Amino acid sequence: MKIEIAENAGFCYGVMRAIEIADKALREYKSLCSFGPIIHNPQVVEEYQKKGLKVIESLDEADGPVLVRSHGVPPKVYEEIEKRGLKVIDATCPFVKEAQRYARQLYEEGYKVVIFGDNEHPEVKAHLGYTDYTASVINSPESASSIKASRVGVVCQTTQSVERFGLTIGELAKRIRELKVFNTICDATEKRQKAARELARRSDVMIVIGGKNSANTRKLYEICKENSKRAYHIETERELERDWFENAENIGITAGASTPSYIIERVYESIRDMVNG
Ligand code: SF4
Repeated sequence: MKIEIAENAGFCYGVMRAIEIADKALREYKSLCSFGPIIHNPQVVEEYQKKGLKVIESLDEADGPVLVRSHGVPPKVYEEIEKRGLKVIDATCPFVKEAQRYARQLYEEGYKVVIFGDNEHPEVKAHLGYTDYTASVINSPESASSIKASRVGVVCQTTQSVERFGLTIGELAKRIRELKVFNTICDATEKRQKAARELARRSDVMIVIGGKNSANTRKLYEICKENSKRAYHIETERELERDWFENAENIGITAGASTPSYIIERVYESIRDMVNG
């Protein structure tokens, strides 16, 4: 039996950077607030709460410097933090910032801005703010028909699937005269998805680790389900079940961008103990 961890599994550059910024700020300030959970991983959020990072949902709860997480926030949130005389500690991923800049640019150039992504995702909500809330959000090739404009500019949530983005752009191109597209899908996501797909194809069972609230982990799980016989999405090793590995010769593991390496290692070791025990 072979257990293999996919390349590029786990923390991406932007998440790693946000964690480092939080660690540094926690050493510097007595209290620190994070506008929403620092990353979409309940175990890491809990660990940081113990270190003194308070998760707030509204700025009314802020009582110290405010950490902006890797997903970013709309411009009005920066303004509001400053208005309240609080310090901003900005951990927005530089790739997300780039997508925000493109959204703004398209808006200023007079395009009807379309964001390919998940309406409810904080990154998309932030992008919307850079278009003064005029952009439309679509998330499938089918929904492309809802866009009625002659000049359309598109940006993409950084963690979307390349395939679906491509298909959606194809649909838009069929009906829109002037189409300007910024492919803002981040490299890390593409590489992680590609490695997961390849590993899933040669695995009997795929284990996908990451927060159930993590969009990029859920996408990885979809990819693994499509490409392997069995796939399971877990947050920690405690959810593993021995039955999943019955008659499996090749077991693959991958993990979303907000999964720390120590959780990946624990899952690997638990599977090894289960299948050998
Ligand atoms: S997935 Fe990419 S864009 Fe998103 S935080 Fe990580 S590095 Fe940044």
